[in-house]
Amino acid sequence: MKQLIVGLALMFAAGMANAACEVNVEVGDSLAFSESSITVEASCETVTVNLKHTGSLPAAAMGHNWVLSKTAEYQAVANDGMAAGLDANYLPADDARVLVYTKIIGGGEETSVSFSLSDLDAGESYTFYCSFPGHTGLMNGTFTIS
Ligand code: ZN
Repeated sequence: MKQLIVGLALMFAAGMANAACEVNVEVGDSLAFSESSITVEASCETVTVNLKHTGSLPAAAMGHNWVLSKTAEYQAVANDGMAAGLDANYLPADDARVLVYTKIIGGGEETSVSFSLSDLDAGESYTFYCSFPGHTGLMNGTFTIS
C-alpha cells in the first residue's frame, strides 16, 4: 500500500512538472493572445509552446506567431522585422535578439516550438509577442522563469 501511494505521488509530481513546462496559447481573428503572461519553472529542461489559431482568416490577413525576446529589445526586433515579409515571419534574419519563435500561422492552423531554458536568465525580463506588422503593440505579454 505504501508503494502504491509513493507511486501515485511520483506520477502526480511528474504531471505537475509537465504542465508547467508546456504552455498552450490560443489566438484568433483579433489582436490578442489567450495568455497575458506566461510563467515556467526554472527546473524545466525543455519548454514547449503550442500556438493554436482558432480564427478563420488566412495568415496574410490575420497571421500570428509567438516570439520571445528580452523586454528591452522586443519592440525594436518587431520594427526591424516588418520589412522581412510573411515568408520570413516578419522577423529579421539571423538576429540574436530573437530568442525563440514560431512561424506565422493563419486560421485553423497550429504550430509549436520547444526550447531549452539553459540559454535564458531567470533574472532577465522577457516578453513574448506577435511580430506581424501592427500586432506587436497589443499582442505581447510577460514571460517569467520562476
Ligand atoms: Zn498577430
